[in-house]
Amino acid sequence: DSSESLLSVSDLRVSYGKVTALDGVDLDVQPGETIGVIGPNGAGKSTLVDTISGFLEYEGSITYRGQEVSESSTHDLVKNGLFYCTERRNLFGQMSVERNLRLGSYLNDGGEAERLEEVFDLFPRLKERRDQDAESLSGGEQQMLSLGRGLMSDPEFLILDEPSIGLAPVVLDDISEALTAITELDVTVMLCEQNITFALEHADRLYLLENGTVRRTGTTESLQSDEFVESYIGG
Ligand code: ATP
Repeated sequence: DSSESLLSVSDLRVSYGKVTALDGVDLDVQPGETIGVIGPNGAGKSTLVDTISGFLEYEGSITYRGQEVSESSTHDLVKNGLFYCTERRNLFGQMSVERNLRLGSYLNDGGEAERLEEVFDLFPRLKERRDQDAESLSGGEQQMLSLGRGLMSDPEFLILDEPSIGLAPVVLDDISEALTAITELDVTVMLCEQNITFALEHADRLYLLENGTVRRTGTTESLQSDEFVESYIGG
């Protein structure tokens, strides 16, 4: 029932000039779910999350908590609990880890100190490095910081674009563990991933994108035995 959806996308079309990146995407997200969006390079995953987060013009409809995204400011979306962790991380390199984290909660009324402790519990490496400049962190630690900053906003809906990208296996384990803890909270998550194993591990439902359209959708369980998805995983 789309009236209860936290996010509802219908017949979404997005182009960059003559390049059509999304060509009629339908998708919905219920509160509390973890949705995986998977697909090869260029499938349109980043375009989808950039558009949902209010950064691109579109045709069709995207409603977040019943309100059309094109009619909402980024400030309103964030105020309403949507937080987008981009692949580009967007950290302030010459500020400390702690400052970067605290910036994540600048729109919230109170609760910052408690959330900082929660993030430090989730990522002890960040606690050890709280006074260090963000730019001096390793790639994996920066990914943790980006995720931690997202959590500082006390999000209701967390959008993660390729959190596993470029990470060494040990760091991937840390991120994976943190994500498990996050999905066990009341946070709704949309996880864009090229790393299928990672997506299968965390998502309740999946959307497989290819060439800007949804090729398959269903519960993670049901898609694990889907031939098309299998061939995609195999390849
Ligand atoms: P990747 O994982 O490689 O980032 P993706 O699934 O996120 O892939 P998008 O980045 O959304 O895919 O790209 C979808 C399509 O739109 C691709 O054909 C891409 O070349 C094109 N595209 C993306 N950004 C732009 C842009 N700024 N200008 C023109 N075309 C773009």
